[in-house]
Amino acid sequence: MSTTRRPPTLSAESTTGAGRSPLVQVALPVGLDSELTYSLPPALAERARVGSRVVVPLGSRREIGIITALDVVPEVERKWKDVLNVPDSAPAIPPALFDSLRWMSEYYVAPLGLCLRSALPASLASAATPVPSPKTEAVAHVDGDPMSLMQRDTLFRRSPRQRDVYGLIEELGGRASVRHLVDQLNVSVGVVHALRDRGLIRIEQVVRVRDPFASRDAAVTERHKPTPAQAGAIEQLVGLAPGKVALLHGVTGSGKTLVYLEVLRRLMDEPRNTAIVLVPEIALTPQTVSRFRAVFGDQVAVLHSALSDGERLDAWRALRSGDRRIAVGARSAVFAPLQHVRVIIVDEEHEGSYKQGENPRYHARDLAMVRAQHEGAVVVLGSATPSLESWSHAQEGRYELIALPDRVGGGVLPTVQVVDPSGGFPSAASPPPVGEDTHATSRPRQPTATDDVAARATDPHARVPAPPQRPTTIRDPFRRVVSEPLELALRDTVGRGEQAILLLNRRGYSAFLQCSSCSEVVACPDCSISLTWHRTPERLACHYCGHTEPLVTTCRKCQEPNVRQRGLGTQQVERLLSEKLPHLRVVRMDVDTTTGKWAHAEILARVEQKEVDVLLGTQMIAKGLDFPNVTLVGVIDADIGMNLPDFRAAERTFQLLAQVAGRAGRSTKAGHVIIQTRMASHHAINCALTHDYAAFAEQELAHRQSPPYPPTVRLTNIIVSGSDEPTVAEEAKRAAEWCTRVITRRGIPDLTVIGPAKCAIERIKQRWRWHLLLRGGTPAAQSALLQYFARRFLPTSHQRKGLRIVIDRDPVSLL
Ligand code: ADP
Ligand code: ZN
Repeated sequence: MSTTRRPPTLSAESTTGAGRSPLVQVALPVGLDSELTYSLPPALAERARVGSRVVVPLGSRREIGIITALDVVPEVERKWKDVLNVPDSAPAIPPALFDSLRWMSEYYVAPLGLCLRSALPASLASAATPVPSPKTEAVAHVDGDPMSLMQRDTLFRRSPRQRDVYGLIEELGGRASVRHLVDQLNVSVGVVHALRDRGLIRIEQVVRVRDPFASRDAAVTERHKPTPAQAGAIEQLVGLAPGKVALLHGVTGSGKTLVYLEVLRRLMDEPRNTAIVLVPEIALTPQTVSRFRAVFGDQVAVLHSALSDGERLDAWRALRSGDRRIAVGARSAVFAPLQHVRVIIVDEEHEGSYKQGENPRYHARDLAMVRAQHEGAVVVLGSATPSLESWSHAQEGRYELIALPDRVGGGVLPTVQVVDPSGGFPSAASPPPVGEDTHATSRPRQPTATDDVAARATDPHARVPAPPQRPTTIRDPFRRVVSEPLELALRDTVGRGEQAILLLNRRGYSAFLQCSSCSEVVACPDCSISLTWHRTPERLACHYCGHTEPLVTTCRKCQEPNVRQRGLGTQQVERLLSEKLPHLRVVRMDVDTTTGKWAHAEILARVEQKEVDVLLGTQMIAKGLDFPNVTLVGVIDADIGMNLPDFRAAERTFQLLAQVAGRAGRSTKAGHVIIQTRMASHHAINCALTHDYAAFAEQELAHRQSPPYPPTVRLTNIIVSGSDEPTVAEEAKRAAEWCTRVITRRGIPDLTVIGPAKCAIERIKQRWRWHLLLRGGTPAAQSALLQYFARRFLPTSHQRKGLRIVIDRDPVSLL
């Protein structure tokens, strides 16, 4: 870089230098050193701030960048190109958010321009148009207490339509858009104006936010008074000093949402205070979102992933202007353009979806902490099954630990029963698979020497799958999947008019196809992953790259017509249930049934309306759902995922089981859980049986001591990929040697390089994959090494040879 940076200043006055235009630094979403210097014409100086969007020339193009420093002093004198425009009157990125994004760029070794851009809605990141001035709408308000009936009768004796309008505004909490009133009651706008002219209501213009989801989750839930346990937690949280973090460890059904709501209400007493609420995925947590809307109404902007660009811009603008002061959304809501953030809530903080899988590979929970530091906000991490990272921080006293050990209203946790389906479901022979959205089924095959190396590089316990037991064959395909106790429980539950949830964390019909003559597995041509058989529409599909092909019956390798299906997917369970228990109304929820915009909401609404007896699905159904009539949870195959060569395999399994079990018996009716497993003695399963998170954490943390894995040490995964395997392997080796040399030369303590080795999934989308791990050292030491690696090693490497090198800091998965 050819300039030195002065501390950024927020005052535009200081930029007016003597005679010559001042210089600014601008981050663009290109390359790692993405900051370039431009000269700022005096006419634009007034608006230019750190965080402002600018239009600048880049080669023959015009690009949108963000000012990262004002008044820069160049090391060399030359003619700088002019900033062409500063489209917005206020910076698009407010100061504390800007500082968080700079941290993110350095920590995750991602270009600053790219990080800044990920905080902007698409329509502002790509077009030079100014943030459009907000569209407004008229909103009617009733001030003061609701009127008595008698008062109303007197006031509206001669004007029944005014009475209707007035009544509806009161019903809606004293505030309603004029458009809504006119549409709902089929009256003319004159009626509303007449009320205003009589001084009975006020009409205000407010910023309009198009939000197609608002009416869907408007259902106002009843307000509860906090229980003593909740009240205690609320007091502790409200009393936290700015910048502090609390882990709210509340069992499933302990009423964490009410705690969040009260904490927000209390901490947002000052009108300028704002808040961010992160949830794992909006579509899967409609109930949580609607509770926030019910309490805070249109102070909330929900950043739903299914919003259109225009709707997203509305929400962003309303937050930026302060018109809405609570941002609710998934991972990227941590970038909400709010100022004076007083509290950040991370619900289900253990969820892997908080980590972004592409550049910048940030973790929203960790970024929330950093942002809270810059904002002076408190962070509330909530979970029934905290990540081991957060749990150990809490144990060490770095986070405040606040526990809600009991269910609300004396409700008890469900009883859990384990069933060993000896001879049952065929998954013992199936490959290690899973989280259907994020991972895919690894290709089953005999372990080889290289696998062993890879397994050791990635897996602390190297849990080599138990050899498939040859079970006493059960002929009835239904019984192979649903054990007798589970079938009886299903019949009983539904017979009582109650509902059940069935979890199988694998979509499709069967997990994979295998030739029974030569054992060849039908795999994706582009990935080292088996293809999954889907029945509707009938096809083979790769869950990693999306490749599909027609079904095969003849083995490609030995030409025998003996290709058989193995393993079990949700489609097959659905079919078996419909054949054997046709009176059950089953609905399936997985990636394949939820492609439409409203699909999740529609399925969940049917469960809520009791139009469905059994909700069958993948991990999607294990999240924060709260259906009081669900009293039975069945886990068809708990062992899926347990043998993944990933150090978090056991943690994920425990979380999934504990969370799905937590869906049962959430109100006065007692709940029951049946887990089908062959691994009942594993701590991930037996601690889920007893709802004993602390015991699980203790055993799992012990496993992560040697070899050390997070949270015992910090990890960075460096993945090299390319189309030619020897080149990839050689480059991974070169990278590992390079890192080792730097560590030795600088004498960095405790930081080691593990590998290189093949990735557990060796090939994805035609690219071979090798990786190495940086383990240990301080975060600062890892940062320094990675920055140096990015500046010195990367330019000599992947750009020239068609290789790609990915730096994944604090990886959630090592597949
Ligand atoms: P969690 O997220 O901890 O699993 P929820 O926040 O979904 O639990 O609350 C579980 C259920 O308990 C919800 O139906 C909620 O309405 C109810 N609930 C929460 N707090 C109270 C309370 N103080 N009094 C009565 N019901 C409550
Ligand atoms: Zn593929």
